[in-house]
Amino acid sequence: MTKKFLRWIERLFRTTKDSAEAFQWAKVEHLPTPLAEKKIYVLGDDECEWAAAMACPCGCGSTIHLSLAPDSRPTWRVRRHRNGTVSLLPSVWRTVGCRSHFVLYKGRIFWCRNEPFE
Ligand SMILES: [Zn+2]
Repeated sequence: MTKKFLRWIERLFRTTKDSAEAFQWAKVEHLPTPLAEKKIYVLGDDECEWAAAMACPCGCGSTIHLSLAPDSRPTWRVRRHRNGTVSLLPSVWRTVGCRSHFVLYKGRIFWCRNEPFE
C-alpha cells in the first residue's frame, strides 16, 4: 500500500464528521453467529492468523470473508491500532450481492463509490 494512498485516506478521515462508533477487532477461533456489527473477527490461533470476517457494513446481512494468508490472492492485512480500532488494507470490493466497495481505516468505513449508506 503506497504512502500516497494512505495520505489520501487520512485526508478523507480528517474531513469526515462521523460520530459513529469505530470498528473494533476481536481474535476468535470460530466465528460467532450472528456476527456483531462494527467488528472485525480475526480467525487464528497463537501461531498464525489466516482469515478475517465481518458483517457487511452496508447492512445487507452478508458475511464478508477475507483471507489473511500472505500467499493467497487476494489477501488483506489487518492493522490494529493502539486505540483499539482497526484498519483493513487494501479495500474490500464485493463482486457478488451488494457489491459494496469500501476501505476500513482506523475503525471508519470509507465508501469508494456512491453506495447509499444509512
Ligand atoms: Zn452489503
